[in-house]
Amino acid sequence: MQDQRKPTPRLFGALRQHFPRTHAVTAGAASFALALTMFVSTPEVEAKRLSLPVNLSTMDEMNAAAAGVQQQRPEETAEPKLRSQSLKVQNGDTLSDLFQRAGVSATEMYQLLSSGKEAKQLARLTPGEEFTFHTDGDGALQSLELHRDRLNLVAFTRDEADAFTYALHQREADSYTAYREAEIDSSLFVAGSNAGLSQSLIMEMAEVFSSDIDFALDIRKGDRFNVMYEEKFLDGEKIGNGPIQAVSFTNQGKTFSAVRYVDSNGDANYYTPDGKSMRKAFIRTPVDIGRISSHFNPRRLHPIFKTRRPHNGTDYAAPRGTPVYAAGDGRVIKAGYSKSNGNYVFVQHGERYVTRYLHLNKRKVKSGQRVKQRQVIGTVGSTGYATGPHLHYEFLVNGHHRNPATIVRKLPKAKSIPESEMARFRSQTQPLLAKLENYEQPALAQRSEDNDNNSVN
Ligand SMILES: [Zn+2]
Repeated sequence: MQDQRKPTPRLFGALRQHFPRTHAVTAGAASFALALTMFVSTPEVEAKRLSLPVNLSTMDEMNAAAAGVQQQRPEETAEPKLRSQSLKVQNGDTLSDLFQRAGVSATEMYQLLSSGKEAKQLARLTPGEEFTFHTDGDGALQSLELHRDRLNLVAFTRDEADAFTYALHQREADSYTAYREAEIDSSLFVAGSNAGLSQSLIMEMAEVFSSDIDFALDIRKGDRFNVMYEEKFLDGEKIGNGPIQAVSFTNQGKTFSAVRYVDSNGDANYYTPDGKSMRKAFIRTPVDIGRISSHFNPRRLHPIFKTRRPHNGTDYAAPRGTPVYAAGDGRVIKAGYSKSNGNYVFVQHGERYVTRYLHLNKRKVKSGQRVKQRQVIGTVGSTGYATGPHLHYEFLVNGHHRNPATIVRKLPKAKSIPESEMARFRSQTQPLLAKLENYEQPALAQRSEDNDNNSVN
């Protein structure tokens, strides 16, 4: 794969020129999202995204559901006098639109809807789903099938008592493990696409490592990744991808590995091979859109008072009303108003950390309330001593102000696997990591051969 050096554009090079380091760091999470979206605007990627038929999370749910359900193919109703008509749900369609198009009376629709609680789901339609109406010679509805997707079929059939009975037919996709690897020449996106990864899998991979690697700034030519994930097939045709199972990423010579684990509470997360969470305890910036308008600076000249006053936080300029998130799980220790702070919220995280959010337009939480990471605690405003709408954000460690723009990467990650669950964690993740390593071996051998050849030449 390294031999085929196609002249691909240096996307990251171009990006780095447009985003000087200070700006990119300041934009934080936004820069990460931006970096990825800048690569995904090519038409073939759009096409790929649109052609992915099944959304990943629903695939998981379906498999979980299917595991407990007898596998069954939809039954054919072989009544000779029945007439069948299939209609696709279009954007904005309601159930009555579809009944009208099928020429089935509204009276029958109401009869069906009042047939039981299962019929309620007919009110929730998604474009692309397909209805099949089976009507008799008089045009009366005998059965209605809703093909939710290729794996799920809901059927309502008229019985002898003239009532509709409900049945759910589910199929289970075949899962296979897929493995891809690539070395980055121009960008993660180009390398991932060339290796056959979908856009969403590339995003997923970037998200797994987002607290260790800044994908807008840190990626270098020669970085590489190895990723193992599930592919779902139905009747021999690929219908979607399952989640990433194990992945490793070498960035500037340093290798990070992660494995997916469903904990005893049923929550799926990514961990290092020794059970440390890949998730950050704190998000990098408490606003999604915004740019740093004033840096953390202990010796700053204050814009209003024109005296040397420390700037103990980072200011993010953002439009009034922009949501402000809690940087991490914690408890609101103060939420109120003061002449200088305006509307403010202080959040305590564990024993050591406090985050402060000032000049809010509105407060969305109260003192004493528990908050989750990324929960909206207020909106950007200009209350108190503020020259314009911005969030003044402070980060304190053991009571001392630290630079919010740089502290996050130095902090410990979210909760790791507790000792009591380590045995379970190991028994589930070690086979995956061993499998990933097995896949990697031939590649390593190949590379060392390449090196040998190079040294001979
Ligand atoms: Zn400030």
